Amino acid sequence: MRRIDPSRKHLLLLHPAYLGGIFSFLIIVFLGSTIFEYRYRRAEIEHMMQEEASLLIHALTVGAENAVEGYNGNRTILTGSLLGRLRLLDRIDRLKPLTSRTLADIAGTGGMYRINVFDSTGRRIAWNVPPDHAPSLHHRDPKRELEPILSGRVDSLVLGIRESVSDRGPRLIAAIARSRGGAIVGNVDASGLLELRRSIGAGSLIRKIGAGEAGIDYIIWQDTTAILAATPNVSGADPLLADPVLALALRARKPTTRMTEFDGRTVFEVVNPFYYHGKNVGLLRVGLKTDHFSAAFAKLRNRFFMMLGLLFFGGLALFNLVITRRDRALAAGAYQRVSTFSSSMLSSMADAVLSVDGAGILTLLNAAGERLFGVRADEVLGRPAALLSLELASLFAEAASGESLSMKREFRYRVGGREHVLEGSFSRLSGGEGSAVGEGIVVVLRDLTEHHAMQERLERHGKLTAMGELASGVAHEIRNPLNAIGLIAQRLDIEFTPKEDEAEFRHLLRTVVSEVHRLNAIIQRFLGFARPPALELVPADLAAFVADYRAVLEGEASDKGVAFNLYGEPGTIAMIDREQMRQVLLNIVRNAVEATPRDGAVSVAVSRDAGMAVIDVADTGKGTTPDERKQMFNLYFTTKDEGTGMGLSIASQIVQSHGGTIVVEDRPGGGTLFRILVPTAPFSAEVS
Ligand code: ADP
Repeated sequence: MRRIDPSRKHLLLLHPAYLGGIFSFLIIVFLGSTIFEYRYRRAEIEHMMQEEASLLIHALTVGAENAVEGYNGNRTILTGSLLGRLRLLDRIDRLKPLTSRTLADIAGTGGMYRINVFDSTGRRIAWNVPPDHAPSLHHRDPKRELEPILSGRVDSLVLGIRESVSDRGPRLIAAIARSRGGAIVGNVDASGLLELRRSIGAGSLIRKIGAGEAGIDYIIWQDTTAILAATPNVSGADPLLADPVLALALRARKPTTRMTEFDGRTVFEVVNPFYYHGKNVGLLRVGLKTDHFSAAFAKLRNRFFMMLGLLFFGGLALFNLVITRRDRALAAGAYQRVSTFSSSMLSSMADAVLSVDGAGILTLLNAAGERLFGVRADEVLGRPAALLSLELASLFAEAASGESLSMKREFRYRVGGREHVLEGSFSRLSGGEGSAVGEGIVVVLRDLTEHHAMQERLERHGKLTAMGELASGVAHEIRNPLNAIGLIAQRLDIEFTPKEDEAEFRHLLRTVVSEVHRLNAIIQRFLGFARPPALELVPADLAAFVADYRAVLEGEASDKGVAFNLYGEPGTIAMIDREQMRQVLLNIVRNAVEATPRDGAVSVAVSRDAGMAVIDVADTGKGTTPDERKQMFNLYFTTKDEGTGMGLSIASQIVQSHGGTIVVEDRPGGGTLFRILVPTAPFSAEVS
């Protein structure tokens, strides 16, 4: 069964599995690229920070070394000048021993703040007292401090920078050996020197750099005991040895980096041992702000949330799609089941089922319909129903415009030269969503041809039987008196001679006898009709069987100037009584010749059709009316002056006794077609 499926549409939707695959792939690519970019950026920033910090450390180291060198130079100059002045004092002392009075004068002019002269025992013998001098509360022991000079081991000694006892700033103190024995000690103001150290030293450098650089969080210079210098924001730091990373870094030859927490902030710390003139003087820790990292993190986070959103909406869409598709698949499955069910029902139906839409276009045709109309569904679906039959199309139109939703009509349909009587039950469809045929008309066609033929045959048979019985009863009743009449007439002819008109007498008697014979012959035929002889069935190839009588049949035709054709399909075997079948064939061919005018043609053809052997006898004669066709198998029905009306009834009876039938049809081009149908034998070529 075929039908136009209105729900058949191309779905351009991808399968969810593919969509899921593509989606997952995209997610992996996006996430992968995000992670890769983050890592790349992180490495890049780390590298940059490390470079930055290394540069800084290098600059600090060099700067600190320069600063220390500058300070040391100044200190050497200051020390040299102090020692020079002390030696000048010694020279003066050698000429005339210095007294406290002399010293008070010199100290004022020589730039020296305080001068003490000790004798070789270490006793102070002369000194000056500066005007704002306050007596010291804690005197150092000069003997012990000056011991290297007093013992003669050295001739000068730098005692270093000390805070003045009267709290007037730092003093650089130095001593020289006294030519007269003992030592001369003096000091000068060292605040300038210390200021220099403060302003150009590593600590100041650290503070300056730390304050100016936006990317630097802190700088600490730290040794194992304390913080030596740091940016102002550093209030304290873990001792070096308490932090394993720092403890290790102290011994490392190259910078160590790490992400760490400092005062609650995340910093990138670069740690490097601080060397001064090849000597480790602690650890430089540079904490760099992690803004770059934060920016990268923020980007990553944004991307992550974007991905999450995408994932969510993508997943939602995918889910939706899957559900929709599943629903669709379920609906399609249900539709398929119903459709398959109805399809198999429709295709296994013996009745033809057709439907048309509102425009009379065929939308459905089942297998029985295909057989009935001798077409293939895919050739006619989607085309007007009028292609199949004009009458059917007009009935569709009638059903569509009629008041009631259904109607029944009989109509005739000719296919393959054979006329079918069809009964159609038409129903109007209201259509609806998912309907197989939609709006239109559906018709179920029953082929009543066989049914009608059967009815006719039964009627014919019944009539023939009744007529036969009647005939035989009448024949019996008539035969005896008739025989008596015949015998009497013969006796009269033999035993009596009239006195006059003998010739007339003889003629009349012979007429009586011949009429009695004729009547007897008729009675004999009646009886033969009523009690047909038993069949002597033999297998016969019908084509050969017909060919055997070709000469006789052809003779019948040529006598009247009618052409005779014979077509045979060998291998069509049937069980027949040859003699009786010959009578059938002769009867029908004779009728055909009689009905055909001169120059017409009579054709006999042997074929097979649906398990039946067929002998078609077609003529180009006057044809028959439906009324004639209805009656011609009746006993005594004749339209001929000389006819008996028995030929076809006897033929029909013989064929029926073979299990077959005779069908009469009007030929479309004029003339009549008689079809003699008998069952084929099991070993017929068709069956074997
Ligand atoms: P009969 O030949 O004696 O008339 P049949 O029973 O043989 O009797 O035929 C009955 C009638 O059928 C004929 O009188 C004729 O009207 C009709 N008939 C038979 N064969 C044909 C034919 N080939 N063409 C037209 N009419 C036919």
